[in-house]
Amino acid sequence: MSETDLQHGASPAESDARALNAMLAQMPAVERVIASENAQPLITEYGRTQVLAAIRATLDGWRREAQAGTLKFDVNANEGAGAEPFSIARVIEATSTTLQARAQSALRAVFNLTGTVLHTNLGRALLPDEAVRAVVQALTQPANLEFDLATGKRGDRDDLIDELICELTGAEAATVVNNNAAAVLLSLSALAARKDVIVSRGELVEIGGAFRIPDIMSRAGARLREVGTTNRTHLKDYEAAISDRTALLMKVHCSNYAISGFTKTVELDELAPLARQHGLPVAVDLGSGTLADLTQWGLPAEPTVRETVEAGADLVTFSGDKLLGGPQAGLIVGRKELIAKIKKHPLKRALRVGKLTLAALEPVLRLYRAPEQLRERLTTLRLLTRPAQEMHDAATRALPALQRALGDAYTAGIEPMFSQIGSGALPVDLLPSSGLVIRRAGKGGSGRALLKLERALRALPRPVIGRIADDALRLDLRCVEGADEAAFVAQFAELRL
Ligand SMILES: *Cc1c(COP(=O)(O)O)cnc(C)c1O
Repeated sequence: MSETDLQHGASPAESDARALNAMLAQMPAVERVIASENAQPLITEYGRTQVLAAIRATLDGWRREAQAGTLKFDVNANEGAGAEPFSIARVIEATSTTLQARAQSALRAVFNLTGTVLHTNLGRALLPDEAVRAVVQALTQPANLEFDLATGKRGDRDDLIDELICELTGAEAATVVNNNAAAVLLSLSALAARKDVIVSRGELVEIGGAFRIPDIMSRAGARLREVGTTNRTHLKDYEAAISDRTALLMKVHCSNYAISGFTKTVELDELAPLARQHGLPVAVDLGSGTLADLTQWGLPAEPTVRETVEAGADLVTFSGDKLLGGPQAGLIVGRKELIAKIKKHPLKRALRVGKLTLAALEPVLRLYRAPEQLRERLTTLRLLTRPAQEMHDAATRALPALQRALGDAYTAGIEPMFSQIGSGALPVDLLPSSGLVIRRAGKGGSGRALLKLERALRALPRPVIGRIADDALRLDLRCVEGADEAAFVAQFAELRL
């Protein structure tokens, strides 16, 4: 309350109201702001409608804050964007910040330092340049998606790619749908509706939340006929379950867990002859599915699609964006008559892939024709096979900038660690790696300090996603390659703890 107020005998409430009204009166009208010179660059960038709405929101926000007494900036301050507290320059500055934030896309690039290469929550496989170029072309130019260039007649989008898939897998026929879950749903719907599908109890898996074999089975209208026990299933269990209601025998790759100890599973090469005796097909949900023998690069053995076909599978389903290293897709390969039935099912139309998927998938598949170059050219494989020394060297280069950004509250170091393949390669298969390990300096309160640091890393312009384990924040550098490394290090200067 000022001396003048006292002299005129105004109550404190009256003088507060007067001060507030004076403050509100200083705010410029929306029309003045939008008509100002300062607004022109924003209008050019965002369009008048959006800028007008944002200016209005800025002023409304200030008005509300002034009324609540929570207005952040000092109205008497004679600095910043202008001498007047509510100068047009200041309104524009605040509006510009709002517009910039709104313009940021919701899907953002991050650094995956979790140590899981095929991280489902972070988008799984990263694609090679060949695929990127093909997608850009498909996005910007018309293409013969369903047009036969030889005859000038309508074509089938599967024709673009099925021969290549057959060449790489040894299968008779192939088709592609949205993802592997769709591939399994469609296959069961087309081949086993209202009939029995025999599956071992040890293979009734759940893969990340919504994909559970029993649920997919019922969605497809098929009856699940469970055989054996969780740890042991014998060939005679399958045999006893076969009846005239049986449509399929099915095997499911136990992607994310292992049963060890007293176990027995029936391998495909035993099951296939039994199925054949009864005139029934065997379907295999291979999950990740790889087209090359991974052991040649020192990776854990995974059954290849070709081996699975050769071992007698009549139908194999697998993902495009797991070990295969391509875009999200579900590939179905197998006998001609089964694939023909699948392609005729109405769900195929609903689950089909778009041109971007096909554009990305083809060049990735083509890389498999040159296995000796695959390690270098297929991004997923290159990341999975990086020697730990490379990550150690990168950590050494990044450490000084990181420690500077962390200040005294944390100490950073370099430690060996293990990466995981992710997305359905066994979690017990670990790849030697190296990375940055950050601990709280001093004693006590470590948990909260690490969570705070984790949050700060996520708030960076390109969020850094690490992993907290054993009282430390761990940043596995396996998935930071090339130019990304410099971007990763440069960003530390912006870390706000
Ligand atoms: C990952 C996986 C699926 C689901 O594949 P998506 O491509 O994610 O739909 C299905 N079955 C198995 C065995 C898997 O490993």
